[in-house]
Amino acid sequence: MSVQQTLVLIKPDGLAKSLTGNILTELSGTGLIVVGAKIVQVTRELAEEHYQHLREEKFFDELIRYIMGEFHVKRILALVYHGENAIASVREVVGATNPEQAHPSSIRGKFGRITTKGVFENVVHASENQKEAEREIKLWFRPHELIQAIYAVESKKVTKTESFWKDESKKK
Ligand code: ADP
Repeated sequence: MSVQQTLVLIKPDGLAKSLTGNILTELSGTGLIVVGAKIVQVTRELAEEHYQHLREEKFFDELIRYIMGEFHVKRILALVYHGENAIASVREVVGATNPEQAHPSSIRGKFGRITTKGVFENVVHASENQKEAEREIKLWFRPHELIQAIYAVESKKVTKTESFWKDESKKK
C-alpha cells in the first residue's frame, strides 16, 4: 500500500439531485482527506480530454454532453482525496461503472441510473488506477490548488493579469 491521490468528480446529475452531502458522507467513511476542491464549468475541450480513452465508443457524444451538464446543471464538483490506498478505497465506495451492476450500498448503486439513450448516469467519477489518477489530477487541478502535492512541482516565472475584488471604499 502507498499514499495516493485520486480524483473524484460529483457529476452534473449528482449536483442536480442534491446528492453532494450524501456523496461526501459516503466518502468520509474511507478516512481519506480532501486536499483540493472546486466547482468547474466543464468545457468540451476538458470533457474530451478527460474521457479521451472512450473516444471510439458509440456513447461518447452523449457522455460529453452529460459531463458538460447539458442534461442537468452546467457544473461539477471536483475533489482530490489523499491517503493510503486512496484509489481503490474510493472506487470501492463509488461502485461499478454500470449502476445496475453496482453494489446496492455503493454510491452508484444507490443513486445511479441508465438513461433511455443508454448513458450510465452514475453521479460520480473516481480515478481507476495510479496512471489515470496522475493524468486526471494534473488535468483538473494546478499545484497551488492542492494543499498537499504528491507529484513533482516546478516553478516558472510568468507575467499575467489577475482579477481582484474592486476596492469600492474609495468611491464618492
Ligand atoms: P468509470 O467511470 O467507472 O471509470 P469508464 O471510464 O469506462 O468508467 O467510463 C466513463 C463513464 O462513461 C462512466 O462513468 C459512465 O458515465 C459512462 N459509460 C461507461 N461505459 C458506458 C456504457 N457501456 N454505456 C453507457 N455509458 C457508459
